[in-house]
Amino acid sequence: MTQKILIVGGGIIGASFALHLAEAGADVRLLDAQRSVGGIATPASWAWINASWGNPPDYFRLRHESMRQWREIDRRVPGLAVNWCGGLLWDMAEADLLSYASERNAQGYEVRVLDGKAALKIEPALAVAPPVAVHVPGEASVEPVHAVERLLSAARERGAEVLHGTGVRWLIEKKGRIVGVMTDEGDLDADVVVLAAGADSPRLLKDVGQDLALDQPPGLLVHSAPVGEMLNGLVMAPELHVRQTSEGRLVAGSDFAGADPGDNPQAAAEALFAKVKAFLKGGEALALEQFTVGYRPTPPDGVSAIGHVPGLEGLYLCVTHSGITLAPALGALGAAEILGQGRNPLLSPFSPNRLLSKT
Ligand SMILES: Cc1cc2nc3c(=O)[nH]c(=O)nc-3n(C[C@H](O)[C@H](O)[C@H](O)COP(=O)(O)OP(=O)(O)OC[C@H]3O[C@@H](n4cnc5c(N)ncnc54)[C@H](O)[C@@H]3O)c2cc1C
Repeated sequence: MTQKILIVGGGIIGASFALHLAEAGADVRLLDAQRSVGGIATPASWAWINASWGNPPDYFRLRHESMRQWREIDRRVPGLAVNWCGGLLWDMAEADLLSYASERNAQGYEVRVLDGKAALKIEPALAVAPPVAVHVPGEASVEPVHAVERLLSAARERGAEVLHGTGVRWLIEKKGRIVGVMTDEGDLDADVVVLAAGADSPRLLKDVGQDLALDQPPGLLVHSAPVGEMLNGLVMAPELHVRQTSEGRLVAGSDFAGADPGDNPQAAAEALFAKVKAFLKGGEALALEQFTVGYRPTPPDGVSAIGHVPGLEGLYLCVTHSGITLAPALGALGAAEILGQGRNPLLSPFSPNRLLSKT
């Protein structure tokens, strides 16, 4: 029998679930409270697709698999245009760079060690060459709102219904089972509700007796006015991560996740933008167009939470940081689990149980 599935949230995570569930033949309806397309954390993202340093082995494997799945989605979703530009990185000590390179190469994640001259060949616009850097040719970026639009459009073509401006007030519970949602316009029933509501997930869970531990650290990014091509790929330097969008804007943070802008975000943005100008040849001509402060829905242990919510049949939760990187794998593996194909071992360490407690 066709499963009737409601997805709450139309950021990059909800969009990926919608696509994968619709592709598998489910009856899918996605609801998002906002009238605009793209999500809340998603548009404020630096949008680096990677399985870079500092990730525990299980999390590395999930991220690496998601990069593989981005390539597949890129082939089957018209116009998605993932930018497989590679990343140049030197935001750590030389010894750490070398051990990162050898560890990742042994895991099948290609990392090339370069001297300053070779780094400048990849990014000739750098004002100062790094002493040593690594280049990761398989890393990528997307324009996050565009990616959500394309994923949702592909989901629609496969039969999903996508409703913006439809907020979910609460989850409807009957005898320990979630049977639907109450929206601004009335109730809707479902066999399974997928909660992909980012920062609003704890509020919806609290109403049905579950406390979800979730942090929401702020992250400041600056965006230049569009300019001609300056960068060829992602650049991760000490205290400055910068990339150029498909429209020619430079987007930068003190790192990809951005720092807390403190109580004067305008001043913090101007100080950060001054670093961008000094970092690039010709940078003095750059103009600050806008800054954004995004709030990352982040489990306190820094890794994803995905799976059925214990004690509440019919409710499936997905909340994560690095959602741009992880959306394809979480959507694909989550859809398979929801549709009864079992839990992929890649997801085993990421059960939401560890973050949930009964209120
Ligand atoms: C500054 C910054 C930099 C980042 N850099 C990177 C990076 O380089 N690489 C990377 O992989 N990740 C990065 N991230 C993280 C990534 O952007 C997030 O993990 C991802 O966007 C989360 O997507 P989401 O769909 O869960 O959440 P969101 O985009 O917030 O979407 C949630 C959606 O749910 C909807 N919603 C909420 N409540 C309800 C309700 N009650 N009813 C209906 N709809 C509801 C909202 O309207 C929203 O559209 C960054 C994030 C930030 C802020």
